[in-house]
Amino acid sequence: MERCKTRGVHTTVATNGTLLSQEICQRLVECGVKYVEISLDSIRAEEHDRFRGMEGAWKRTVEGIRNAAATKGLRAGMAMCVTRLNYHHAEPMINFAKDLGCTTFVHFNFIPVGRGRDMAEMDITPAERENLLRLLNRYLQEGQISIMSTAPQFGRACILYGPLEGLMATAHGGKGKGKQAKVLSKYIGGCGAGRCYCCIQPNGKVTPCVYMPSVEVGDLKRQTLLEAWDNPLFALLSNREDRGDHCAVCDFRAYCGGCRARALSYVEDVQAGDPGCIYNQHVWEEVVRNAEKRNELVVLGQHNRVDSLLAGASSGTITTTNTDRLVRDTLTTITDAVPSRRQT
Ligand code: SF4
Repeated sequence: MERCKTRGVHTTVATNGTLLSQEICQRLVECGVKYVEISLDSIRAEEHDRFRGMEGAWKRTVEGIRNAAATKGLRAGMAMCVTRLNYHHAEPMINFAKDLGCTTFVHFNFIPVGRGRDMAEMDITPAERENLLRLLNRYLQEGQISIMSTAPQFGRACILYGPLEGLMATAHGGKGKGKQAKVLSKYIGGCGAGRCYCCIQPNGKVTPCVYMPSVEVGDLKRQTLLEAWDNPLFALLSNREDRGDHCAVCDFRAYCGGCRARALSYVEDVQAGDPGCIYNQHVWEEVVRNAEKRNELVVLGQHNRVDSLLAGASSGTITTTNTDRLVRDTLTTITDAVPSRRQT
């Protein structure tokens, strides 16, 4: 970070906050860091600790947020990845962030990649996401705390639910007020993957988004970032006229474009409609139907059926013959969970 400072690179830090002592916060300021974003999963300590697999994590994280917020020259943000586990706590979490002195609350859209593939059934439905975006817009317009969301539909929600001259989320550009911000948002708002943002992995590989870790478009060990950026996939991602489902005709496609990582994860088509949007409810329903057809191993939005899946796994009626990787991975997870779940 010191080197970033000397080279004029703007640096922010995303962390679980458990090591953010007053001294570390001060050191971050000296290294030129102006913003620290800290993940908190629940207003309830026991739920956060269970999800993180670490007793006492919530207490340490909250202490870290307090330390960051109290450090002169540093702004603190609270990040919350919303799932069915914590969806109903979104509003108390925003108020908690305000109480702790955070300048920003960030909603992270759940995307089933990495270990997230094992918990895809915890994703919220399009209707729940729409309610959440409406709530986020209300707090954004109130102006007591800055609100950000990685759901690209947030810009559309600001237009639909906010006043004409109100605040507008411009995604990677932050927020702005009135018509000018809305015009700007047409160019820089919504999903920024391969459009106004990319990911550089620790090994130098370039991907459109942190949530597309296997989609490598370049390698900074062999080329410059500019050379890596100039690739056909980024050109495709930048063209919002070339989309599927309702994203193809949506009046808000210039502001949003739909989450490309979600389309890729759920539909295996980077141009498909974002199944998380209320306008693409039919895509979501198809994703759920297809999951059910595959021996009901992934029942999105209906996790009360996990017990029947466990019964199938233990009786041998569910097999691993299906070649779909997601199904295989999920079966492994479920099968592994059978003994411990039976004990409870
Ligand atoms: S249909 Fe697509 S472009 Fe329109 S708001 Fe929904 S996700 Fe965004």
